[in-house]
Amino acid sequence: MAHSNISIFVTHVGCPHLCAFCDQRTITGTADLPTGDDVRRICSQQLERISSPEDTEIAFFGGSFTAIERSYMTELLEAAQEFVGEGRFRGIRLSTRPDYIDREILDILKGRGVTAIELGAQSLNDRVLDANERGHSAQDIIDASRLIREYGFELGLQLMVGLYKSDEETELDNMRKVLEIGPSAVRIYPVVILRGTKLEQLYLSGEYKTMPFEKVTDICSEMLLTFESAGIKVLKCGLHASEFVERDMVGGYYHPAFRELCESGIFRKEIEKALEKEKISGRLYVTASVSPKCISQAAGHKRSNIKHFKDKGIELKIIGEEQPKYKCRLKEVRACI
Ligand code: SF4
Repeated sequence: MAHSNISIFVTHVGCPHLCAFCDQRTITGTADLPTGDDVRRICSQQLERISSPEDTEIAFFGGSFTAIERSYMTELLEAAQEFVGEGRFRGIRLSTRPDYIDREILDILKGRGVTAIELGAQSLNDRVLDANERGHSAQDIIDASRLIREYGFELGLQLMVGLYKSDEETELDNMRKVLEIGPSAVRIYPVVILRGTKLEQLYLSGEYKTMPFEKVTDICSEMLLTFESAGIKVLKCGLHASEFVERDMVGGYYHPAFRELCESGIFRKEIEKALEKEKISGRLYVTASVSPKCISQAAGHKRSNIKHFKDKGIELKIIGEEQPKYKCRLKEVRACI
């Protein structure tokens, strides 16, 4: 089922923290705070426009929703709740910090139409959480996740890949820990170092040495493949293309088509693995079949996979057939004469 969100950004308000990577105004691209009436106006406009509201959630993103002042939080939720139910939207989704989840908060959310909670986990490693001044532990993420699921909410986890003091091993360990928690969905955000943040200082002083871009793309590819194969939906892989991010970033791993880069990497590896099994080398003609929805990803971002194999003497043709997502099957492999 296609799923969409009506995103309403509630910027840094309410968050008493300042994580080393955070500049909420840049990420969301707005500094205006919505009122309950703004929420009503946005929801009623969208209800008129959207053809299948039952597949759409009203989403409060951009800050630590459950940390905002209680009366403002309930004002927003109650306005949104008026648009949830039969013939209207499916529910309310929100993002928050793991240490602002407890039974009292979950009772409030349960009674006001909230269906999905996304936790900004960022890392499941205490060394990385400390170094990036998150102010909570990995155990807080595990405990909050358990409680959210116990209440019957859909659980989402947001991960940040390539933070200060992290490395490949740590990221792959984070991935395994997320699998153990078993959320319904994840968002994978490679780190973007923004102007005015603590990360910027660490980066410019040389203390924070980032991994190469290709390494982080490889890690994110592996996460994308592993999570989707385990039935965990990857809602995002890479920050959405934004003029604010492009203007304010000083380093890190931003690309406007980051997910496509990761998907290209998945297919390149799949095709290489399949070719290894064939045990023939030299100049080849190869036809690989993938799901019709994945043809452009298999050919690679800007046809990078086609070019990659051509450089190795392999003429690669991609065709669309019934295949699981991210899988490929070699239909024909023959030597060029
Ligand atoms: S918890 Fe979220 S909103 Fe608060 S400082 Fe950290 S990243 Fe920013």
